Amino acid sequence: MSKSSATRLNPLDLYDVRGQLSEEERLVQDSVARLVDKQVLPIIQRCFEEHRFPQELVPELAALGLLGSSLHGYECAGLNALCYGLICQELERGDSGIRSFVSVQSSLCMYPIHTYGSEEQKQRYLPRMARGELIGCFGLTEPHGGSDPANMKTHAKRQGGDWVLNGAKMWITNGAIAGVAVIWAMTEEGIRGFLVEKGTPGFEASVIERKFSLRASVTSALFLNEVRVPQANVLPGVVGLKGPLSCLTQARYGIAWGVIGAAQACLGQLLDYSATRTLFGRALAQNQAVQIRLAQMARQITTAQVLALQLGRLKEAGQMTPAQVSLAKWNNCRMALDIARDARDLLGGAGISAEYVPVRHMLNLESVITYEGTETIHQLTIGRELTGLNAF
Ligand SMILES: Cc1cc2nc3c(=O)[nH]c(=O)nc-3n(C[C@H](O)[C@H](O)[C@H](O)COP(=O)(O)OP(=O)(O)OC[C@H]3O[C@@H](n4cnc5c(N)ncnc54)[C@H](O)[C@@H]3O)c2cc1C
Repeated sequence: MSKSSATRLNPLDLYDVRGQLSEEERLVQDSVARLVDKQVLPIIQRCFEEHRFPQELVPELAALGLLGSSLHGYECAGLNALCYGLICQELERGDSGIRSFVSVQSSLCMYPIHTYGSEEQKQRYLPRMARGELIGCFGLTEPHGGSDPANMKTHAKRQGGDWVLNGAKMWITNGAIAGVAVIWAMTEEGIRGFLVEKGTPGFEASVIERKFSLRASVTSALFLNEVRVPQANVLPGVVGLKGPLSCLTQARYGIAWGVIGAAQACLGQLLDYSATRTLFGRALAQNQAVQIRLAQMARQITTAQVLALQLGRLKEAGQMTPAQVSLAKWNNCRMALDIARDARDLLGGAGISAEYVPVRHMLNLESVITYEGTETIHQLTIGRELTGLNAF
């Protein structure tokens, strides 16, 4: 017996997380959803194929207040933690590359300037970044290994009133299109953040051209050769690894929400496909083995949503810890990647076609599960939380 559609739950929100949201949060979600439906989905597959970041969307993202959305002042929208999560979720329903752009701009570049910058730095950079007129990037990872950032080789030395930076950064989102880079470098005092502007002599960014993932996002290598910056370009408010790690905590929070959108896109398309694909005289969706797989996807999405919602509440209350973020980043990325892979399989040959979204999300999620701390690093973070022993 089939259940009437009037009594059926939303398959992409079985626990009615949407019903938990305030009116403002729902409005934010709806406006980002409209942007994604109207302006991202029609072009994104082609962008992915052409390995092109749709930079023409940046003014639209800015106009909706999505750049630095949770920061206060300096033309930023000052939205709450749930709104930031929902923004990420809707954007990643479109493509992880678009969400990555917003994450880097907001959490990895504007956040450290807002939190650790001087008043002059905030005035100089944040309003232009909120308007999308200035793009930022975050240079932490280095070619010799990103999982161990304390072992960084890029260094900065004082020379008179200036600092001179030497080193290289690898896998930097937005690198080649950024007007300002937050570069983390080792100094005699410990790791410090430097604001390096495009065009500074000795500073070069080159696009990593050959990649199979996040193709609608710019990923770059940065080179610093005797790059001289004034003292005014050093972030005065933080010394040590906690500077970059605190930014990553913000961005990972957004990722934990974002990947839910990618998984919803895959399950949504798969539900349509399996209802209409007829094999052995019945709809694909009418097989027990298929329904079990669909049910598993819904279970995984639902648990990820509830996890993200609670994490958002903890963040809003100022109680969120980095280990809680690690658990959510790990769980939700794993869930989204598993769903994208399984959805691709259930589409059969069509699953490798650019006409369907799972393979693009699957390829993107291989990056998302790796960046901002690999799955293993987050597992080890939880292990440390449980045992008190550092096994890194
Ligand atoms: C598309 C993309 C965009 C990115 N954007 C940015 C950016 O904007 N800014 C930035 O700074 N970085 C960025 N990164 C870098 C990203 O954060 C790193 O790739 C990531 O941290 C892993 O570092 P790695 O690639 O050097 O791998 P490695 O650190 O070399 O790790 C290799 C493998 O070893 C495993 N491993 C490491 N240590 C241990 C251990 N102790 N025990 C067991 N296993 C271990 C890892 O889990 C991984 O599987 C980006 C990466 C990608 C792919």
